[in-house]
Amino acid sequence: MPNLVWFRTDLRVRDNPALYYACQSGPVEALFILTPSQWLEHTISPHRLALILRTLDQLSTDLAALGIPLRIVKSDNYNSSINVVVKNAKSIGASCVFFNDEVALNETRRDSEVIAALQSNGIACETFNAFTCLKPGSVRKPDGSAYSVFTPFKRRWLSVLTEVGLDVLPPPKAQGPSITPIQAPEKIAGVSKDFGSELWKAGERTALSQLNAFCKNRADNYQRDRDIPNVRGTSGLSPQLAMGTISANQCLAAAYKVNGGRWVGPSEGINTWVSEIIWREFYNHILVEHPRLAMGQAFRRETDNLPWNQDTELLERWQKGETGLPLVDAGMRQLNSTGWMHNRLRMVTAQFLAKHLFLDWRLGEQYFMSKLVDCDIAANNGGWQWSASTGTDAVPYFRMFNPIRQAERFDANGDFVRSMVPELANAGKKQILEPWKDGGFAGYPAPIIDLAQGRDSTLAIWKTMRAGLT
Ligand SMILES: Cc1cc2nc3c(=O)[nH]c(=O)nc-3n(C[C@H](O)[C@H](O)[C@H](O)COP(=O)(O)OP(=O)(O)OC[C@H]3O[C@@H](n4cnc5c(N)ncnc54)[C@H](O)[C@@H]3O)c2cc1C
Repeated sequence: MPNLVWFRTDLRVRDNPALYYACQSGPVEALFILTPSQWLEHTISPHRLALILRTLDQLSTDLAALGIPLRIVKSDNYNSSINVVVKNAKSIGASCVFFNDEVALNETRRDSEVIAALQSNGIACETFNAFTCLKPGSVRKPDGSAYSVFTPFKRRWLSVLTEVGLDVLPPPKAQGPSITPIQAPEKIAGVSKDFGSELWKAGERTALSQLNAFCKNRADNYQRDRDIPNVRGTSGLSPQLAMGTISANQCLAAAYKVNGGRWVGPSEGINTWVSEIIWREFYNHILVEHPRLAMGQAFRRETDNLPWNQDTELLERWQKGETGLPLVDAGMRQLNSTGWMHNRLRMVTAQFLAKHLFLDWRLGEQYFMSKLVDCDIAANNGGWQWSASTGTDAVPYFRMFNPIRQAERFDANGDFVRSMVPELANAGKKQILEPWKDGGFAGYPAPIIDLAQGRDSTLAIWKTMRAGLT
């Protein structure tokens, strides 16, 4: 009897356990459900929506070459998609529906309901872990409890991985002669398929060649270059990992090979890169352990008592990249114009919002979700709560990146700022750090806050909150 494979954030044919095992036990058809209303409710970014459509075209082609038809069905939200799965499974007479887990709250609730609905129709269901390398919940302390600090988590994670080994699945065997692929719709939720296509290339082959190019050309210098926004020093794989066109397993296997068959080996660059992938694992494991984080709650509950500022004018200036602090503005304009922001700048802009402006970090988290092509609830929430000092293993509340010092360290000549903030195109190396000091530049605003005052006021609020706890 046929099997149905339901694709979600795993849009690849290699290392895809749901697809691989479904193909071992019967003819397979595939399903992807577009849920525009749900995505709008989750404020999924236009860059991400367009990339989903382009990736579906690639996936459909790859599946068609294996003789597997892909159905792309529109269904407003997660609730209605439950019936869509059952209806499609019944229409092909499927005995089993295969899919890979998703970790966030709405998704896990939907999946439980899908499993129950399939069961009540006499259809089995098989689920797999594929978004992370190690299944959330499988890396625990000796007493069985979950880790909440990264370094011991990483140590244990590496030892579990060494015990179980890394298994990268090949693509499944062809199910029959190749067929004609279908195309995804040209538009979803008002966003055209080709939006951002010059920036974000879609599909599994692109992701694999990006991974190879990174391992060959940049990985060894990752440690040195990864913090410099004007240098292409990182892998740029986050949109692909978020979409599932490449797996964490595939990234780790490539790193292991470059490092001479070791997790921690001679290449400092690779060692550091593997750590970043483990941060991704960590935040996914944390989210599964604490689903309330997906409901806007702080990991450290006491910080929900902080009287966060909700000033909409300050928020808008930050969103537009018009704060008058050049590095913050350059980061926000990179986000607004490309749908991606360099990691160093994500930390700088997030800390500026949550620390100097003392705006509610959830406002920033939501804005990032609405713009990032790599928007991923676990990494985004983790990054925001780290920056705002409300999260687990977060930066201490009294540590605040000073955007001027950060610019001095990581954009020493001001080249990145100049590339993103045209008003400062003629500013010299020193002027670009604090343009207001030389009478300013036409069209570029004065700072929206005095950094020292912002810092002192935020520290005072935190100290009052902490005193109330003792
Ligand atoms: C406030 C804030 C918000 C963020 N939001 C997101 C988000 O929505 N989606 C997202 O994928 N990443 C997010 N990050 C993490 C990080 O900034 C990006 O993963 C990284 O910039 C992507 O670039 P890259 O692919 O070149 O990364 P590389 O440096 O090449 O790293 C390889 C991969 O490791 C993972 N990774 C790297 N750093 C981190 C990290 N700190 N936390 C979790 N995973 C990491 C990513 O999957 C990344 O693609 C956020 C960080 C902060 C501080």
